[in-house]
Amino acid sequence: MQYDHILIRYGELGLKGKNIKKFIVKLQENIQHKLKEFPDVKVKRTQGRMFVLLNGHDPEPVITKCRDIFGIRSLSLAIKVDNDIQKIKDAALFALKNGKDVQTFKISVKRINKNFPISSQEMNQVLGGHLLANTSDYTVDVHHPDLTIRVEIRNEATYITSDIILGLGGLPVGTSGKSLLLLSGGIDSPVAGYLAMKRGVQIEAIHFHSPPFTSERAKQKVIDIAEKLTAFGNTINIHFVPFTKLQQQIFHDIPEGYAMTVMRRMMMRIAQKVCEKESILSITTGENLGQVASQTMESMNTINEVTNYPIIRPLITMDKDDIIQLSKKINTYDISIRPHEDCCTIFVPKSPKTRPKRDKVNNMESKCNYTFLLEEAINGIEVMKINDDQVNSKDVFDHLL
Ligand code: ATP
Ligand code: MG
Repeated sequence: MQYDHILIRYGELGLKGKNIKKFIVKLQENIQHKLKEFPDVKVKRTQGRMFVLLNGHDPEPVITKCRDIFGIRSLSLAIKVDNDIQKIKDAALFALKNGKDVQTFKISVKRINKNFPISSQEMNQVLGGHLLANTSDYTVDVHHPDLTIRVEIRNEATYITSDIILGLGGLPVGTSGKSLLLLSGGIDSPVAGYLAMKRGVQIEAIHFHSPPFTSERAKQKVIDIAEKLTAFGNTINIHFVPFTKLQQQIFHDIPEGYAMTVMRRMMMRIAQKVCEKESILSITTGENLGQVASQTMESMNTINEVTNYPIIRPLITMDKDDIIQLSKKINTYDISIRPHEDCCTIFVPKSPKTRPKRDKVNNMESKCNYTFLLEEAINGIEVMKINDDQVNSKDVFDHLL
């Protein structure tokens, strides 16, 4: 006997009708995709349940992968047997003996198949008695057991599960459309991307770089971060925008205090163009209220003016400590703190205006013509596809929920 299935628990309050169907189909697709390196492992759906069929494969690496998939609330190893009392007894005994550090247990039977001749309550007693009669080291504790053995008698078969492993929750990536993530090499934007993905958003990334002032290593940092993010979704395309000329021109034309604001507005304009081209409906940033000069209410108001696309700011109300915690858990922190230059840090003015006003900035921009440089930057975009194939997610997600 062995655990040959993994039971996937999903679902979110509030999802109904067509949405839940879409959710389930996408989740199944995402799980199958993440498990593609195990060709014998299959994902199956029965009414209201999803299972991973291990077909003899070691469950550990499969579970590790599943724990990074958004939309899974929890999972358990399961044994599938026929609706036969002896087989159910054998499986329950196997589950008990395989439990780690178990002294007390409880049986919890759910009889969904009403044709099965024994009621749930009676089955609890039958199985409890069987386990006690065939072991010597265990006792029953119905209130605080070390191990709960769950027995679900369904129409097609009976499933026996024990430990519940928490998943990440959220919605399957791809059920909430696409967003263009402004990805810098910093700590915040990867976390913003992760949180958007958690709500089912598929991410494309855009990065503004300024060679030769920013190096290849700075670019590599962004690639490495995107690669970490693919652990939670699929392929991520990064759009690298050559920003040097535009930035130099801005810093030449615009009074120093406002250059940062104009630069951010240019980023938004370019991001929107990429969205239009790629049929992406929103922009996501790692902005966080009050962190730095560009992230005051006035600054956001002025930067936001140039686009009417929704801007998702998952971190807007979070504390920096919490953002850092999360970046460590998703394995991007160590990359983000590598000391490489970013276009914004190189061209950073000494004293940027913390409360830039729309009319002032509009007035300054109206005296310059950036059409050509904007087009040049957009035409110079390089797209790099970051696959999720090589990424091995680390087993560090116990406390993420
Ligand atoms: P991060 O840690 O994400 O860099 P930050 O706290 O350093 O954020 P800023 O540098 O003010 O904040 O940037 C605010 C947001 O603007 C970033 O979170 C990111 O979404 C976007 N951004 C900044 N620089 C770039 C860049 N070079 N390319 C793409 N997006 C950028
Ligand atoms: Mg930054």
